[in-house]
Amino acid sequence: MQNIAFWGSKNTGRFILKSCPEDINVKYFLVDNGEEPLKPSKEGKVPVISLTELKEKFREGEIDSVYIYTYTRYTLSGIIRKLKGAGIDHIGVFRHRVGLGEKLDWTDVVFLDELGKPFLPYLQINIVDGCNLNCKGCAHFANLFDVSDITPLSEFRKDLEFLSERVHIFELRMMGGEPLLNKDVIRYIETARELLPDTDLRLVTNGILLLKQPEEFFDSVKKNKVTLDISGYKPILPYQDKITSLLKEYEIPYVMTLNIGKFYKTINIKGDSDEDRAYEMCAQSYCTHLRRGKLYICPMEALFYRYVEHFDIKDFSLDPKEFGIDIYDSSLDFDTVFQKLSESVPLCRYCMESGDELFDWAVREDPEKEDWIAGLK
Ligand code: SF4
Ligand code: SF4
Repeated sequence: MQNIAFWGSKNTGRFILKSCPEDINVKYFLVDNGEEPLKPSKEGKVPVISLTELKEKFREGEIDSVYIYTYTRYTLSGIIRKLKGAGIDHIGVFRHRVGLGEKLDWTDVVFLDELGKPFLPYLQINIVDGCNLNCKGCAHFANLFDVSDITPLSEFRKDLEFLSERVHIFELRMMGGEPLLNKDVIRYIETARELLPDTDLRLVTNGILLLKQPEEFFDSVKKNKVTLDISGYKPILPYQDKITSLLKEYEIPYVMTLNIGKFYKTINIKGDSDEDRAYEMCAQSYCTHLRRGKLYICPMEALFYRYVEHFDIKDFSLDPKEFGIDIYDSSLDFDTVFQKLSESVPLCRYCMESGDELFDWAVREDPEKEDWIAGLK
């Protein structure tokens, strides 16, 4: 019998207990509560403890391992960092996420210390930079790119092949811009699955072109076990039912975020934020982005050069060519690379340290530099 602690409680706890096999004893639920011990509370029959208490239980041998299941993969990086910081090294992670109403597959757990290579919880890559929706203030600056700006398949393959031999990637999100504007999208999907047989593959789309895809596309998505992440902006809401019934018909897993009404402005154009504070406040700091042989801590670091070029920002004090980490740099091992990816970068000075500023979602065909700049009111 394995005695484990599970990261999470409440809804996560109830969900976990429903499918827990008999040879695993969920002894504690774990909630990160700073240094404060939690008041004794119960989730079902399972006590909830803090990270500080867990450290003790792990040291005393009361707990064999900690299991993590997260709905969003980028939160995984932060959780793992906290556990490792607390000296917990036997950490089990569910390889795939499951859909609403489905049960967890406990045979799908991989232990990080048994992987034999470093791991990336989350990686994103644009397969097209431009978009057919052009949202105001897009975090990937898609309305500053052209729909013909694509990542060549040869480069996609080369970079993923190099990484896959050295690193385990839990989740790869193929995105853009709008990835369905890439007429070879099926070949990207097949390449990703060939190179990353155990990775949770996702295609992130605004859904506008979904109903126009040929049967071959849906067959490939299904065969290659790709989940569709559909961002439900206003223009697709009238087609929502058609899209969902089509995906059900093809038995394709999907997540649809409905009616996204707010976007964030993040840029402090004065560039005088405290790097570490801005990084701490940032929701994108776990969104590792792969582009042209380099890893970036976030899409902003990878794509901000386009903003600087497009608006001809003269007083930008940094050189975008210096951004990112060259995956082919033989002087770096991947443990060092991942350590660097978990620290702030000089560009963080150009993000708000007091949090982002919300505005109403809108289409913007003719973007202005102020669309991204916070604190102008
Ligand atoms: S749908 Fe909007 S947010 Fe998504 S890539 Fe296109 S422009 Fe950006
Ligand atoms: S540059 Fe830093 S603060 Fe800005 S989005 Fe990226 S990680 Fe966040």
